[in-house]
Amino acid sequence: MREMPQNLATEKEARDVAEAARESEWAGPSFVRELFLGRFRLDLIHPHPPDDEAEVERARPFMDKLRAFMDKVDSEEIDRTGEISEELVQELRDMGAFGIKISVEYGGLGLSQMSYIRAMELVTSKDGSLTALLSAHQSIGVPQPLKLFGTEEQKKRFFPRLAKGAISAFALTENDAGSDPANMQTTATLSADGTHYVLNGEKLWCTNGTRAELLVVMARTPDKVVDGKSKKQISAFIVEANAPGVEVVHRLRFMGLKALENGVMRFTNVKVPANNILWGEGKGLKLALITLNTGRLTLPASCVGGAKQMLRIAREWAKERVQWGQPIGKHEAIAQKIARMAANTFAMESIAELSSALAMKEGYDIRLEAAIAKMWNSEAGWRIIDDTLQIRGGRGYETAESLESRGEPGIPVERGMRDFRINLIFEGSSEIMRLFIAREAVDHHFKLAFNIVNPESSMAEKLSAAAKSVPFYATWYPATWVGKGMLPSYGEFGKLAKHLRYIERTTRHLGRAMFHAMVRLGPKLERRQMVLFRSVDIGAELFAMTAACVRARMLVKRGNREAVELADLFCREARVRIAASFEQFYGPNDDALYKVAMRVLDGRHKWLENGIVTSTHMNHVKPSANGTDEDATRALRHEAAGVG
Ligand SMILES: Cc1cc2nc3c(=O)[nH]c(=O)nc-3n(C[C@H](O)[C@H](O)[C@H](O)COP(=O)(O)OP(=O)(O)OC[C@H]3O[C@@H](n4cnc5c(N)ncnc54)[C@H](O)[C@@H]3O)c2cc1C
Repeated sequence: MREMPQNLATEKEARDVAEAARESEWAGPSFVRELFLGRFRLDLIHPHPPDDEAEVERARPFMDKLRAFMDKVDSEEIDRTGEISEELVQELRDMGAFGIKISVEYGGLGLSQMSYIRAMELVTSKDGSLTALLSAHQSIGVPQPLKLFGTEEQKKRFFPRLAKGAISAFALTENDAGSDPANMQTTATLSADGTHYVLNGEKLWCTNGTRAELLVVMARTPDKVVDGKSKKQISAFIVEANAPGVEVVHRLRFMGLKALENGVMRFTNVKVPANNILWGEGKGLKLALITLNTGRLTLPASCVGGAKQMLRIAREWAKERVQWGQPIGKHEAIAQKIARMAANTFAMESIAELSSALAMKEGYDIRLEAAIAKMWNSEAGWRIIDDTLQIRGGRGYETAESLESRGEPGIPVERGMRDFRINLIFEGSSEIMRLFIAREAVDHHFKLAFNIVNPESSMAEKLSAAAKSVPFYATWYPATWVGKGMLPSYGEFGKLAKHLRYIERTTRHLGRAMFHAMVRLGPKLERRQMVLFRSVDIGAELFAMTAACVRARMLVKRGNREAVELADLFCREARVRIAASFEQFYGPNDDALYKVAMRVLDGRHKWLENGIVTSTHMNHVKPSANGTDEDATRALRHEAAGVG
């Protein structure tokens, strides 16, 4: 086991760093932010932003080339060898696939966010490793922060290279800085003459790192004193991968995405020109978070590509495979899975497309929609893959190559499952997304009323908070009890109107429930992750329902009446989940679960682990017959020393 480093940030430091990087202002409107405040602002997302037909036409030649390319790619070979050949990468470069969103003036295709996510959806429907290559470069790699924060000079210097296919990567994570960037150890120190920074440190799991020409690297620059307190500073730099001192220490391999070009990157006294800093000193973490706000819109669309492919596989197999006298799709247990897969795929597409359309709207604040899209689509997509595997039975578990070797079609559900799982972890794990959403969801109440419910506030603080909050709550709270959803309304949605009314009523219910939680739990609410997470889940379902209804309405207008059935089923199912979340809001077993978890962690239930083999690691620790694991570790160290 690795030694625990001594210099890890405390919980308070971690929070301070995260807070400092947080965008505290809401410059633009957000449907989801309003939703958590109990206000159903349908006008912010309805009518669904129309497709830009001219853009679709502009994108068509590229999309046609990409589809033809994907048709001939041998994804089984990519998976088996763990490599994407240079010829394939060059073909992608030649068609402009590394510069989809880079503007034409810099040599890119100049296509929109919507065209970009549709391209990624197409690629993922066949090959996750190729998506990772293109998306790590364009969603989070150099082009995205360069577009958002680069100077004109930097754009002129880097965009033409990136558009031609100079592959780039995003290097934030370190051994001890996964979800918590406060632990970052990589440093960048300005040289005495101010011409360059000297970069030292190591980055973990850097996708594209092993193939990249350019990297965005987040590193600590010297702390600054703000209000008398020393504050950690994280800055972002564009680093040339061939600069002296940049090294790929390991190429890393994973459960899926076998051809991911992912590595441990080491920086030893790397000289980074001072004009390669992005946005300015101390702004690196904020830059990373803002980059991810739009960057993480790719993943939900990519999940849609995977889900659609699984739906196709399940549909064909459930019709073809006959067991117990009829196609398995006619047995109710399988039929229900198929219906849910279709309804959820529709909701996933609705969320992904709506969120990207909103991101393209001038002034719209997309961060909460993007976080929900990432969290919800990755989790719904994972259930779809799991169901597809179940529907395919033994064939779902068998590799595509093995299926082919015995004459059956090489349907790659097993690979799809391996490739998909990481979506719930990278670009903000499901837990971190829920925390992020919850933080914003309670922000308004906390800003206004926290001091009233905080037992540690002074009387003066309580009175001042009361003076500020009374005018707001005097109108806000009563308004959460009455609304349009109580009356016949939303008629234009036809069969779906009842769901819109439910969403309006439930949005107010959610707003009240969150306010009540703050009053009831006060500062303890921050620690009750599961209460917060249930609120987030309800909000996410309400957003998904609205997105599905609004999309169905838009499709009806275009003559597609089928979508209403899927939106209706999705909403019915979501209502059941929401009811369960409200029922469990304060988690009748939350305390008991936490208590048992602490006892498990303390080792009190280690007895339960009797009867198993414990040497499961490669450099396994052999427990001695009568000794502890620590004894065995020491013994192994002796053995190793002896061999040396
Ligand atoms: C294949 C792959 C590709 C990647 N690509 C990149 C890349 O290109 N660039 C890059 O910078 N990084 C990359 N990463 C890193 C990835 O973003 C991290 O794995 C992710 O941020 C989570 O960090 P961690 O794995 O250290 O988990 P940890 O932070 O150690 O978390 C472990 C578990 O605890 C949970 N957890 C953590 N904190 C809390 C909390 N406060 N409350 C509740 N639960 C919590 C997490 O959700 C997770 O389930 C990649 C990782 C992988 C595996």
